[in-house]
Amino acid sequence: MPRMSVTRRVSVERNRLRFAAAHMATFRGTCEPLHGHNYDIFLEIEGDLAEDAWVWDFGELKRLARELAEALDHKFLLQRESRHLRITELDDGWEIGFEERVYRFPKSDVAVLPIDNTTVERLSEWMAGQLAPVLRSIEGGKFRRLTVGLEEMPGQAGWYTVDL
Ligand SMILES: [Zn+2]
Repeated sequence: MPRMSVTRRVSVERNRLRFAAAHMATFRGTCEPLHGHNYDIFLEIEGDLAEDAWVWDFGELKRLARELAEALDHKFLLQRESRHLRITELDDGWEIGFEERVYRFPKSDVAVLPIDNTTVERLSEWMAGQLAPVLRSIEGGKFRRLTVGLEEMPGQAGWYTVDL
């Protein structure tokens, strides 16, 4: 008899996996006004059962998500690779311009991200890129896939899935 193929998934979300951040995404030649969101992170790992019937420890999964949340909490999310914003690194800050608008932020208030736009699509992709190498390096892990979801307001989220 062939073995039935099954999919097991474990996930963590909400509670302390939240952060509040400011951003302005660009869209079709325009730039949103500066504003913020209370973001919620969702992490899901698909894999086989390891020893003791675990896919992975929820505590560890939450710790990884919390580290991401803490790195971005109360920051301005800067899309360093933007093709539309004028971005200048100063000694003590970042100057960001779009058409006649110019903003200046102290460095301590900015999370500089190697992405071209601060959409939840890109932010979730960036998060998955941070987490995947960590998960791949875990001894004894039998993970197949990681999914990161990022909700910027209730019912509005971007998701990114990567093979492990
Ligand atoms: Zn927004």
